[in-house]
Amino acid sequence: MERQNAWKKYKGKQLKEIESLAKSYKDFLNNGKTERECVKTSIAMAKDAGYKDLAEIIKKGKKLVPGDKVYAVNMGKAVALFNIGTQKLEKGINILGAHIDSPRMDVKQNPLYEDSELAYLDTHYYGGIKKYQWVAIPLAIHGVVVKKNGDVVNVVIGEDKNDPVVFISDLLIHLAADQLEKKAGKVIEGEALDIIVGSKPLEGEEKDAVKANVLKLLKKKYDMEEEDFLSAELEIVPAGDARDAGIDESMIMAYGQDDRVCAYTSLKAFLDVENVKKTACCLLVDKEEIGSVGATGMRSRFFENTLAEIINLTEEYSDIKLRRALAASRMLSSDVSAGYDPSYASCFDKKNASFLGRGIVFNKFTGSRGKSGSNDANAEYMADIRKILDEQSVSFQTAELGKVDVGGGGTIAYILSLYGMEVIDCGVAVLNMHAPWEVTSKVDIYEAKRGYEAFIRFA
Ligand code: MN
Ligand code: MN
Repeated sequence: MERQNAWKKYKGKQLKEIESLAKSYKDFLNNGKTERECVKTSIAMAKDAGYKDLAEIIKKGKKLVPGDKVYAVNMGKAVALFNIGTQKLEKGINILGAHIDSPRMDVKQNPLYEDSELAYLDTHYYGGIKKYQWVAIPLAIHGVVVKKNGDVVNVVIGEDKNDPVVFISDLLIHLAADQLEKKAGKVIEGEALDIIVGSKPLEGEEKDAVKANVLKLLKKKYDMEEEDFLSAELEIVPAGDARDAGIDESMIMAYGQDDRVCAYTSLKAFLDVENVKKTACCLLVDKEEIGSVGATGMRSRFFENTLAEIINLTEEYSDIKLRRALAASRMLSSDVSAGYDPSYASCFDKKNASFLGRGIVFNKFTGSRGKSGSNDANAEYMADIRKILDEQSVSFQTAELGKVDVGGGGTIAYILSLYGMEVIDCGVAVLNMHAPWEVTSKVDIYEAKRGYEAFIRFA
């Protein structure tokens, strides 16, 4: 049951479409390196496609009718978009759900200190990272500082080519004999992930003059005091733009493709569909990398509450209608898959691995050690989905995340499945997943977008 490499099937027009999608995807990545930035970019795209703010519609006491398009924002970090169909909501909706948070380092609440005339920002890493990959590379600071008066100051340092970057130092090889004896997980410890942000003392200052100079610059540029770190969310991410990878330019290398590659393709597919029979929903959520917890993660009631509002605006609300709508819904949990890597062949079952270039990937189940923690999608559902994809000539493949008992992982799939709806994991194969620079194939991005669009139209 080997699946074909998708590159082989394209002619001129499609090759152009692949490139233009790849280009807009790279722009999306460059404009959205944090969940907040992704939400802003996504809302701008939605507005361009005629979507309206649900909060405004509620405030004005308006109703929703088939063909209406709305979005709801959750604390600036998650968004739910709805395209209202002609069918009753009780018959269920079609949902594409992806996450827009990515592994990184978060600046602590009391972060700034000076040691040996170097100024540092102390961090706590977010999500699963191999810590040794994050040292000695250019890093950028993205986020917000919220003042006591409520003013939100946006911060981006390290992306413009005239901007400075920041970094974490590594020990020179000449002195690293002991370090290199350590296990890879211990080579760089979590507490040692401190960012160097300065080395120049402030004139006239005696003690901690380098730190004082950094504070002076922060005051000048962002009008912030040291205490304002208490109410800041600053994320440290790799500095630099997404770029083509490979001499043949067939791949994209960029930070945060888990899971923005699925977020972008889901959103693009969703926005490209004008009118639907079954109401369609695109969910972009936060906090997946740390267990989908918190008010902006998938486990929050935000989605359920928003669907309740939608029912309330389209017909007379009742709890049973909401329950029925949820249970009758279908979802593609759009998340990335581990691309087969010949350099690490022993970690994969080659028959059940996803390959770069073979199209959108379905994971019937994820989990680890005896499928533990998995949403195991129903065969009946998978049968329907593969019929739709075959009819639309979408290239797809099926995979597991590595060999049995080698490891595992989870997604947001199991959370939606709690409502009794059909859910399956489905996304794009990635090399170097969770590394500062992850790699995807342009054809997989294209096929994912086509697959998601087919789902919205025909599921
Ligand atoms: Mn993911
Ligand atoms: Mn992940």
